[in-house]
Amino acid sequence: MTEATTPTNFIRQIVAADKASGKHAGKVITRFPPEPNGYLHLGHAKSICLNFGIARDYAGTCNLRFDDTNPAREDIEFVEAIREDVRWLGLEWAEQRHASDYFEVFYRCALKLIADGKAYVCDLDADEVRAYRGTLTEPGRNSPYRERTVAENLDLFQRMRAGEFEDGARTLRAKIDMASGNINLRDPAIYRIRKQAHQNTGDAWPIYPMYDYAHCISDAVEGITHSLCTLEFEDHRPLYDWCLDQINLPAHPELAESIVAAGLSYAPSRPQQIEFARGNLDFTVMSKRKLMALVQDGLVDGWDDPRMPTLTGARRRGFPAAAIRLFWERAGISKQNSVIEYGVLEGCVREVLDATAARRMGVINPLRLVLQNLADDHIEVLDFPNHPKDEAFGRRSVQFSRELWIERDDFLEEPVKGFHRLVPGGEVRLRGAGIIRCDEVVRSAAGEVIELRCTLDADTRPGGSGADRKVKGTIHWVDARSAVAAEVRLYDRLFDVADPDDDTDGKTYRDHLNPGSRRTIRAWLEAGLAGASRESTWQFERLGYFVADRHDHTAAAPVFNRVVTLRDTWVKPAK
Ligand code: ATP
Ligand code: MG
Repeated sequence: MTEATTPTNFIRQIVAADKASGKHAGKVITRFPPEPNGYLHLGHAKSICLNFGIARDYAGTCNLRFDDTNPAREDIEFVEAIREDVRWLGLEWAEQRHASDYFEVFYRCALKLIADGKAYVCDLDADEVRAYRGTLTEPGRNSPYRERTVAENLDLFQRMRAGEFEDGARTLRAKIDMASGNINLRDPAIYRIRKQAHQNTGDAWPIYPMYDYAHCISDAVEGITHSLCTLEFEDHRPLYDWCLDQINLPAHPELAESIVAAGLSYAPSRPQQIEFARGNLDFTVMSKRKLMALVQDGLVDGWDDPRMPTLTGARRRGFPAAAIRLFWERAGISKQNSVIEYGVLEGCVREVLDATAARRMGVINPLRLVLQNLADDHIEVLDFPNHPKDEAFGRRSVQFSRELWIERDDFLEEPVKGFHRLVPGGEVRLRGAGIIRCDEVVRSAAGEVIELRCTLDADTRPGGSGADRKVKGTIHWVDARSAVAAEVRLYDRLFDVADPDDDTDGKTYRDHLNPGSRRTIRAWLEAGLAGASRESTWQFERLGYFVADRHDHTAAAPVFNRVVTLRDTWVKPAK
């Protein structure tokens, strides 16, 4: 990691205080707990950077735990993708675990709760449970099954586990308080019957634990000291604490025999849940469900479409992992929900790429330019620095000859005030080559400008007596004879409104896709770029940062994605 000293935040203050006081024996263990039901997005990166960052800075460890307690939505494809994305972000977990590694522990803990009179099997169906639950202003009513005996509950729960009952026929509920002001404490279900194969445990379990119950026990099993989660779990914290206090895993090693038998390390803790605000970006949706819908309905080209706010999309777009880390570092951690401007992320991308991307020349909207005073067979090789601010990037040779490509918008036939590039009869500097004058404009039969005939002022060549002569503009170019043709994909924001999640006007995020979010063009690039390796990033001078596409780029058919322009040129599309 290259980040400078990390600014402090309220979570780090808690961790530092716990370390100082010797709580948890001074150890810090965190975890990142994704549900493998989709690809990770930029919001997840906030949690990843926080959890792994704290482990790194407080000499602790961080686990990657797949929160796989809902087999209906989860898939092994997502497990692999999440592993790859976390690694790509530059982070390494101490252990990879799955909540499903602990199914037996959850089960034994449930038996303990039943034996202690803290849980009961309830036969109410979903609608009845809702009716009994009460509302924010009215207390709930006790389930008619609440006073079952321990023996009856044990028998029924064991039969649930044996697969004797149909899906939804019964639940196991924690026996807490139906009148609690916190609805999460009104006898929440902790197990439900669901006869569905699980990607890790197959058909072994016809019952699955509920999230709140499984999550706190998983944390304790792994010895997690600080369980960091987003604000919407604040109201669940009393249930998190209730479960852990009732079960008291550290005092009951017999509950976790299966962990030890499976060869997993086991040093349970009494973790503390701490909530922080979700990361949000404008012009972006960050919910796996919505991103999944975009993919499934073909509105984007898959999870790694460079416009997607997924980590795999950001990677393919050419966003450096370091820029995403820097972004969340700067955004900070608080309990205040906020939305960060997308431009701030792009600023971090520019900052990292300015330092790390070598410079090249490419022309994305080409206009032919002929230097009439050079011989037809004139070919020379110019020496260019690869980075204006960092000699460590070395230098390269760039071919220069009579025929060049320049950007069409670096020429204007009718000069306008403030335009300092090429106009008929005017002069401009060709980057690194000398000053040229435009003598003649050649048009097609249709009247389109197709060629500029120019003269190169020999004295202004590098090393020449007039090399320092000033002209107002400098433009980039590519040698037409040696240039390679490339497909260049120009990307923009996927949505054209700041808050695509806002559906108060009856429109949803799907109605706000930006139709101009991808344009594919043909470009001419400096010859050496054909050999660029996939995922290498470059600054094309004056145009922006570009990345050789992770999947489609080849030396024979180069494909580059624009990562970001050099400056924030984004303008709100007209309504
Ligand atoms: P989504 O709604 O996109 O599915 P999720 O919270 O359900 O997100 P999980 O796989 O459960 O997704 O998330 C794993 C971890 O990442 C959780 O601890 C969650 O709090 C955290 N996380 C998810 N989204 C964000 C976000 N936008 N900012 C910070 N942390 C997030
Ligand atoms: Mg979730």
